[in-house]
Amino acid sequence: MLVTGASRGIGRAIALRAAADGFDVVVHCRSRRQDAEAVASQIRSLGRQCRVLVFDVADRQACADALLADVETHGAYYGVVCNAGIARDTAFPAMSGQDWDEVIHTNLDAFYNVLNPLVMPLVRRRKPGRIVTLSSVSGLVGNRGQTNYSAAKAGIIGASKALALELASRQITVNCVAPGLIDTEMVNEEVLQEALKLIPAKRMGTPDEVAATVAFLLSAQAGYITRQVISVNGGLVG
Ligand code: NDP
Repeated sequence: MLVTGASRGIGRAIALRAAADGFDVVVHCRSRRQDAEAVASQIRSLGRQCRVLVFDVADRQACADALLADVETHGAYYGVVCNAGIARDTAFPAMSGQDWDEVIHTNLDAFYNVLNPLVMPLVRRRKPGRIVTLSSVSGLVGNRGQTNYSAAKAGIIGASKALALELASRQITVNCVAPGLIDTEMVNEEVLQEALKLIPAKRMGTPDEVAATVAFLLSAQAGYITRQVISVNGGLVG
């Protein structure tokens, strides 16, 4: 099982939960290798195998090189969780081209960069497989100050649904999880105070709460769930 962006936050929780559920895990990160190694140690202490991969999901060649080499050595993954992501929030008139591009490259292009090298090895296993992508409430309804992020996260939903159709007859499911406000480094204090007023549950979600939904979609029991978007948002969007 590969989890991108597993050095911290939601990805870390997904990786640890996957290990607790009995999967060997490939922990991926970009810059925080030490944090990723700490997650890997925790996973090994649960009795599962784990290795760390480091690359930028926005770099197409780096993704292909790292992933094809890993699959060649260790075999195709049963599951892939495309979790790595960034936000660069600014009102649209003030948004720089760089902020637009970085968010689209890291959040949306990564869908292609990570999954394209992995899909054929997954199909060739001729066994059930799982792909889970991370969207956001922002991709469902749009969010002020997040035109770049909303565009990328809406794109993830479309791409996931299309890939689900292509892979459904191969026993490979593709689903998308759309969190609301989750307590990680991605959330800044300003956004938090405004958002809390709008969240019916009156609190942020935890990474573990998102990981629990992802874990179910990764499980054998979820084999007939594909092409879906599952929200984890405390009632923020119904
Ligand atoms: P964090 O900022 O806590 O962690 C982001 C993770 O993504 C890190 O592991 C980071 O690696 C990795 N990452 C970032 N950019 C790159 C890159 N270019 N290449 C490779 N890895 C990268 O984020 P969250 O845990 O909060 O978010 C995880 C996912 O959930 C994201 O897709 C996010 O958009 C989505 N989400 C989050 C919400 C929230 O409220 N927190 C709400 C809705 C969706 P490193 O540590 O090495 O830098």
